[in-house]
Amino acid sequence: MDLTDLTLSEALRALRARQISAVELTEAHLARIEALEPRLGAFLTVTAERALEQARRADERRSRGEEAPLLGIPLGIKDVLCTEGVQTTAGSRILEGFVPPYTATAVQKLFESGAIMLGKTNTDEFAMGSSTENSAYHPTRNPHRLDRIPGGSSGGSAAAVAARMALGALGTDTGGSVRQPAAMCGIVGIKPSYGRVSRYGLIAFASSLDQIGTFGRTVRDAALLLQVIAGHDPMDSTSVNAPVPDYSAALSGEVTGVRIGVPKEYFVSGMQPEVEAAVRAAVAHLEALGAHVREVSLPHTDYGLPIYYLIAPAEASANLARFDGVRYGPRFSDGRGMWEMYRQTRGKGFGSEVKRRIMLGTYALSAGYYDAYYLKAQKGRTLIKRDFDRAFAEVDVIVTPTAPRTAFRLGEKLDDPLQMYLEDIFTLPVNLAGICGISLPCGYDAESLPIGLQILAPAFGEEKALRVAYAYEQSTDWHTRAPAYLEN
Ligand code: GLN
Repeated sequence: MDLTDLTLSEALRALRARQISAVELTEAHLARIEALEPRLGAFLTVTAERALEQARRADERRSRGEEAPLLGIPLGIKDVLCTEGVQTTAGSRILEGFVPPYTATAVQKLFESGAIMLGKTNTDEFAMGSSTENSAYHPTRNPHRLDRIPGGSSGGSAAAVAARMALGALGTDTGGSVRQPAAMCGIVGIKPSYGRVSRYGLIAFASSLDQIGTFGRTVRDAALLLQVIAGHDPMDSTSVNAPVPDYSAALSGEVTGVRIGVPKEYFVSGMQPEVEAAVRAAVAHLEALGAHVREVSLPHTDYGLPIYYLIAPAEASANLARFDGVRYGPRFSDGRGMWEMYRQTRGKGFGSEVKRRIMLGTYALSAGYYDAYYLKAQKGRTLIKRDFDRAFAEVDVIVTPTAPRTAFRLGEKLDDPLQMYLEDIFTLPVNLAGICGISLPCGYDAESLPIGLQILAPAFGEEKALRVAYAYEQSTDWHTRAPAYLEN
């Protein structure tokens, strides 16, 4: 048996029963990475030596009779999360060679629970993008079809998990970057509520929207990772000091009486008919399982995209001001003074999408435009949040498509930023409202590309979304399908 065929939960069981060792499991995944990485490009750095060392330590701990929630489980970590002693680039040239002096809290928690890091996964530069093509290093390909993007910005993490190069992974989601790649790659992705997971050590894109999320091949696997990384952290004042529920308790398979809302604004013209059909079939399936389905309205949905593209770039323009060639990464200077050094370092260090966002954001925040753009966007954000508050007064969860279409071709949207931005119309409002969401597979289109189902719940209502996701998953078999390309 190939150990990479195991899910995270299955591997954990086999490790605990001493049927396999962490070293064997890690070696199998490293071999898989070696075989597939030249074609997929899911990683920016593979830390094989370190991974094997962590695996040996995990085996030792277990042989001493110790147990821990992820003891011996090899994972991928998105390269926007700081890892002490391991290069962390955020997919940008401006951080090439940057080796952080500390580890992000979420990653540290994984390590403390016995997990192993296989490497740092590819990402759009500073997590800005929906296809992972904005990485300054190389694109990542979709394991279902190599001519397709894996989604983004956490495309490296999603592709690695779908291609069985890692048992699970961390990503980040500012406007959809965990859920959309999960949908494109046919796996499960969780975007926790804002404040559920510490952002300490996450290289910030838009601080009021960013949240670290998890990937797994099953709902249970992604939930297990969330269980470990969730919780208060004194190093992040926006992490909420509230108890973390036992997420596995929500995985009952029961949805009888659960009230499901389907927002009428989320079935838009121009969406791929197969996506709409698959999502409507999934809703009917949940109804057959005993859930109560009703239509709800989120009337400000259309404003989500423009609001996001004012707030996110505004915050990004402030967050990225620190990359100036003085404190981090390479410096470009011809000796003509400080301003010229800033100009050259930022000119060469940032890619074109990042520059576009910095300019948009600086404009929206500048004197005279602040009230017209930024403040107006903040008011709109409140309206979006109220839409969800109203809907959640009537239903327990909201079910929608994750993305309007399945994975597109590499290069297809690179010349048209607006087309790329439109990829996230169903995911962005969730970050604006601070609520939580899960994407899980609910079908395939005629080209064998996966379709994602998005399940949303109120802030700190992760169990509600998990309950519905798990019941759906367990009564369907989409999650058992390996990417067609891997079968050959
Ligand atoms: N695609 C969106 C953007 O480019 C969201 C990215 C993200 O969630 N990090 O901003």
